[in-house]
Amino acid sequence: MPKPRAKEPSMTRSRKAYQEARKLFPGGVNSPVRSWRSVGLLDSGPFFVLRGKGAYLVDLDGNRYVDFVGSWGPLILGHNPGKVVAAIRKQAARGSSYGCPTELETRLARRVQKAMPAMEMLRFVSSGSEATSHALRVARGFTGREKILKFEGCYHGAHDAVLVKAGSGAATFGVPDSAGVPEGVAKNTLTVPYNDLAAVREALAANKGQVAALIVEPVVGNSGTLLPEPGFLEGLADAAKQAGALLIFDEVMTGFRLAPGGAQERYGIRPDLVTCGKILGGGLPCGAYGGRREIMEKVAPLGPVYQAGTLSGNPLAMAAGLATLELLLKKENYKQLEATGAEIERILREAAAAAGHGKNVCINRAGSMFTVFFHAGPVRNFDDAKASDSAAFGRFFQGLLKHGVYFPPSQFEAAFVNLAMGPKELKLVARAARAAFAEV
Ligand SMILES: *Cc1c(COP(=O)(O)O)cnc(C)c1O
Repeated sequence: MPKPRAKEPSMTRSRKAYQEARKLFPGGVNSPVRSWRSVGLLDSGPFFVLRGKGAYLVDLDGNRYVDFVGSWGPLILGHNPGKVVAAIRKQAARGSSYGCPTELETRLARRVQKAMPAMEMLRFVSSGSEATSHALRVARGFTGREKILKFEGCYHGAHDAVLVKAGSGAATFGVPDSAGVPEGVAKNTLTVPYNDLAAVREALAANKGQVAALIVEPVVGNSGTLLPEPGFLEGLADAAKQAGALLIFDEVMTGFRLAPGGAQERYGIRPDLVTCGKILGGGLPCGAYGGRREIMEKVAPLGPVYQAGTLSGNPLAMAAGLATLELLLKKENYKQLEATGAEIERILREAAAAAGHGKNVCINRAGSMFTVFFHAGPVRNFDDAKASDSAAFGRFFQGLLKHGVYFPPSQFEAAFVNLAMGPKELKLVARAARAAFAEV
């Protein structure tokens, strides 16, 4: 039996804040995925946030939501964990930036390296976009080749070389290729479907001796969640090696999430280069790229590949990252993330079936990241994801919201489980999911 409709949460203050913000920022937001356009709410707008605590976000009107966005990935411990806040405070009292090296950078790098041994040397930067942009330059500098190969629906940040068939944000807004990306840049970016090794081999053969790197989200989050089929990642490593191209695992989303060492640990692959971000900064702006020593020694001041950043290795971000990884990188946490993820998957399947949507919904999940596709399934690449019923997803999103659960406002995004979610939150999600599916 569907529950009676909950009262619409009042959003008066958020609406007002949004109308002000729209005068200043394109779409009222400072990153397009924060807009609620793709769930049919461009005009009423997103809620504005007052604060976050644990598993919850509280909006300006005092409504509370179980948060499955987690700042789009970083907040795997939940909002505002006490020890991370304390570490940021302690560092802030000593200064927020020096433009000189600190031991915090070395300590965080050691932690990262222990989790991801492929990072023989690394560089800290301030975002995931910076990490991928510089990793690609290093790959080009190292190989002396210009082309790169990426996968349809994989997102590697908002820079020219990778804004070609780039998933989520772009897909959400129906602009597969951004305006303003020079043709000369885009022509060096080859794209093939995810999970299609034959297409990879074909593209490499057709561009023999010209491809510097293959870059991939080893588990995709930015088309919604897509899982690598058995043998796909191994096949990529093989194909890259044979072609003399570098393999870059973009683990900005999956790093420290799917396992302490991310997807490379989970699937047992050692990429040539790795990019990180999101969880790494514990909610502060931070990214990293790194990999084989002989490749990273090409980076300035040792080598000819230039890369720099005024706030790179920022002490506040280093402190937050260290405190986060200290709390996070324990076996029992990954067991808990898997268990909570599995339970939420079960709850969602049951709720979909109860509302008669069992056959219209496909849930893809890897550990603590998942997507509910309004698609009969299987969803194994970007084309499949795009065939989902986005309007139905929009109604599902609105239904959840009304019942106190905040999902990513797009069919093409991953939802995230965090360590602050417990039995109480699961119960709330179960009730909301039953109601939301019934209202789709
Ligand atoms: C989020 C993301 C990026 C970009 O990171 P920003 O910090 O937003 O620049 C790059 N790659 C992947 C896989 C991501 O999920």
